[in-house]
Amino acid sequence: MDTKIRTRFAPSPTGWLHLGNARTAIFNYLFAKHSNGELILRIEDTDRERSKKEYEEALIEDLKWLGIEWNEGPDVGGPYGPYRQSERFEIYKKYVDELLEKGYAYRCFCTPEELEVEREKAKKEGRPYRYSGKCRHLTQEQIEQYLKEGRPYTIRFRVPDGRELVLNDLIKGEVRFNVDDFGDFVIVRSDGSPVYNFVVVVDDALMKITHVIRGEDHLANTFKQMLIYEALGFPMPKFAHLPIILGEDRSKLSKRHGAVSVRQYRIDGYLPEALFNFLSLLGWYPKDGKEILSKEELVERFDITDIHNAPAVFNKEKLYWMNGVYIREVLDIEDLTDRVINYLKTYKGEFDEELQKLVDTILSYPREYIKTVVSKVRDSFFTLKEFPTRAKPFFVDEITLSPDAEKHIQKITPEVAKQIVKLFKEKVENLETLKGEDFKKLAKEVAKELKLKPGMVFKTLRVALTGETQGVGLDLLVEVIGKERVLKRLNSFLQEN
Ligand code: GLU
Repeated sequence: MDTKIRTRFAPSPTGWLHLGNARTAIFNYLFAKHSNGELILRIEDTDRERSKKEYEEALIEDLKWLGIEWNEGPDVGGPYGPYRQSERFEIYKKYVDELLEKGYAYRCFCTPEELEVEREKAKKEGRPYRYSGKCRHLTQEQIEQYLKEGRPYTIRFRVPDGRELVLNDLIKGEVRFNVDDFGDFVIVRSDGSPVYNFVVVVDDALMKITHVIRGEDHLANTFKQMLIYEALGFPMPKFAHLPIILGEDRSKLSKRHGAVSVRQYRIDGYLPEALFNFLSLLGWYPKDGKEILSKEELVERFDITDIHNAPAVFNKEKLYWMNGVYIREVLDIEDLTDRVINYLKTYKGEFDEELQKLVDTILSYPREYIKTVVSKVRDSFFTLKEFPTRAKPFFVDEITLSPDAEKHIQKITPEVAKQIVKLFKEKVENLETLKGEDFKKLAKEVAKELKLKPGMVFKTLRVALTGETQGVGLDLLVEVIGKERVLKRLNSFLQEN
């Protein structure tokens, strides 16, 4: 029998898309695509307090930005919708009723105070808390009486006694679990809203999910869910629990390790291809050892059984390096230019004032000019956000000296600096046009004629032309900005120093 593989990504819209969840989405995508299957996006918004429409929109936008595509979801619809849990309450109700009717679930009228007493008692006796099961034993009359009185109740799943469940996880292998540890857990809260562990089973079953791929923090939930699958007579999907992601200090990846949301990496100038590539290697590695892989190459190579059953370590420097590789080597120049321009337009508002001003100046140049600069400096920036600072000398003719540049001038004395700049200027004036290769030649002549070290002459010219003591190749710079703008900068230097 060949059933189509169907995976799902089921985020809760309670914040920005976390890197760990993005990796889960990517693995679901890669697995589905590799097997010619389908990916379903389901929004898990049963927590009405914490779920926000803005977060749902941001999640969808960030997933699309990353390059993940789904076959069914709240935005595209599909045959098993609705794909937002808040719109499925009627469906859940039907299955709650079925569980109640068949005795797999029961109403629990215990008050929060009563439960607190149980909890305290467990604590005093030094054992982990689990619900006593008191309301399992209510008679039909008692239940009817309580309902008539309008007492609030939750609905609990009746966990069978002494059952050991065996899970054959695609990544973790065989995992055994004794369900006695659970106690009868709540599946519907007293306000009538159904709980994750219950609705997820109903949805995965009705949406015909064949493989549930999610973080290993859900492992304990899986055993609760297996009980519900059994009770409702749904066929069980296959499960794969992804290794957790650790920071470099080997503690669970969190805000302490810096940015952890996809959106923040977007704002910081990362490329979706690089982030996708990087995240796909957190816990999995292609057999051929190739690291820089396009989405298509990843789809082709992805094999769920190759996922390691060991924590993955998030190495921020590696992501930074990888982003640089995409900028330097992977994107073609037209594409890279568009990315730079779009990025600067979109995220300008996030930068400090000085950088915003620089960005405005850059964006006032024609696209062709920006493209030329991008092609000259693409091996010196690792994120799109670094572009304006690296490329500044190509765009800004008013030069202010950095503290280091100032120091250099004082060290060699302003008189000597001016001598250098003046002589160089005269040589440039004598040229018809100023080519990149002329720069070195003229600077060397200046050094020779003034009997100075070439290094000192280069540094001084760099200060005069850029205001910095280090940066882009000056031959590249003069070639791009041309004779007139070079002379303008040299003249300003002579006037101001
Ligand atoms: N909404 C759950 C989460 O974001 C989904 C877990 C699952 O994939 O079942 O953690």
